[in-house]
Amino acid sequence: MEINRRKIIKKTQRKLSNLVGKLDKEEPGIRALFELSASCVFPAGAVETEPAETADTMRLFSPASEPPVPKKGRQTYRMWKAMVELDSSPFGKSRLTEKMKRLRFLPLERYNVGPFNIDGLTSGITEFLFLFLKAFFPGLEITLESPYDISQMDPISRYHKLTHKKQYLVTDVYTRLHRATDSNRKDYILGLTWTDLYPSEDLNFALGEALYSHRCAVFSFGRFEPLLHNENDRDIAPKDIDTSAVVSNSSGEGCCEEKSGCGRSFASDEKQTLGCAEESKAGKAKERELPHHSKDVSLDQEKKDGEDDVLQINADILWKMMRVSSHEVCHLFGLSHCVFFHCAMNESKSVTEALKQPLYLCPVCLRKLQKFFNFDIPARYRQIQDVCLKVQRSYPSERIAETIDWLNRVQEFLSTD
Ligand SMILES: [Zn+2]
Ligand SMILES: [Zn+2]
Repeated sequence: MEINRRKIIKKTQRKLSNLVGKLDKEEPGIRALFELSASCVFPAGAVETEPAETADTMRLFSPASEPPVPKKGRQTYRMWKAMVELDSSPFGKSRLTEKMKRLRFLPLERYNVGPFNIDGLTSGITEFLFLFLKAFFPGLEITLESPYDISQMDPISRYHKLTHKKQYLVTDVYTRLHRATDSNRKDYILGLTWTDLYPSEDLNFALGEALYSHRCAVFSFGRFEPLLHNENDRDIAPKDIDTSAVVSNSSGEGCCEEKSGCGRSFASDEKQTLGCAEESKAGKAKERELPHHSKDVSLDQEKKDGEDDVLQINADILWKMMRVSSHEVCHLFGLSHCVFFHCAMNESKSVTEALKQPLYLCPVCLRKLQKFFNFDIPARYRQIQDVCLKVQRSYPSERIAETIDWLNRVQEFLSTD
């Protein structure tokens, strides 16, 4: 029995070291938090992480699938670290050791958003997202930039054949944004569009995408996501973000992830596939199956449709934008989709699924971010909680309430001996 136990402990330590790296320099509470990652590789009860009697609802992290987690798609902390260390900047420093880590949050269009106010925090949606991202990514310098007029770039666009709404080809936007805005190549960019996005000709819709090599991510308000419907069903209003089928790409073999598309959708008659599109596709996607209209036509059409009304921000839209922006920015720092736990970095096959995913990171993903920015974990949780409490007062929702509850529990866990 004793030998068996020792074997398990040794195996656990080895697996843990792969999953979250060496923990010996961490405070006991932080170490215990990262050790919870073992529960995704061993069947319940095989290792002592959380007490066995912990009720499911009280568990901090639940494995994404029955342990052990599948090998495919894994990006452990060590795999991630090898990738970001290998990826040297032109100045010879790995991304991990770069001193200056700056994200430019760049509105790309004028937004038609109704009154928005989070008491004690902000009265603008971009200002709010800026403050939220600052809380989510401590150690990252974030600047809220003056809007850049995306029409100057004349990105490839189309009208979706079913919704008749204008969409930008997201790959054409984010691969050219650094040059178009004359940005330092070392800066990270997060662009926000009012116009919806599509990832490639065969796909309907994308909430956002990120390209690690280009240090650029773009997301949108995602107002007109096409529903899963047949071409004949032209009457279906494409406004309900919760009811459509969306497929996002998978990361392939973990650490090699380059481009991360999240919240993509297919028409029902289109083949649903998972997997990254080739990066080079961005430049080649000149052939358009759907008609491409000029900007003027787009504005006329939208006015005619009467569907470019003011967007009233509600709790759902706020949650979606918090989820998508933080998820995409994590991709910029090399985090692949997470297969270990229910986690903010899970891949989503539908918008519904994307919205159900939590705002918090699992221990494996958290470890990567913590190593990238060297932040204080309890302080970060306090900051995120502070933002969530304010959101809850102005735009209450069950999802934010659950997030606040989780943040309470994790802080309690960290402060317990
Ligand atoms: Zn993603
Ligand atoms: Zn994760």
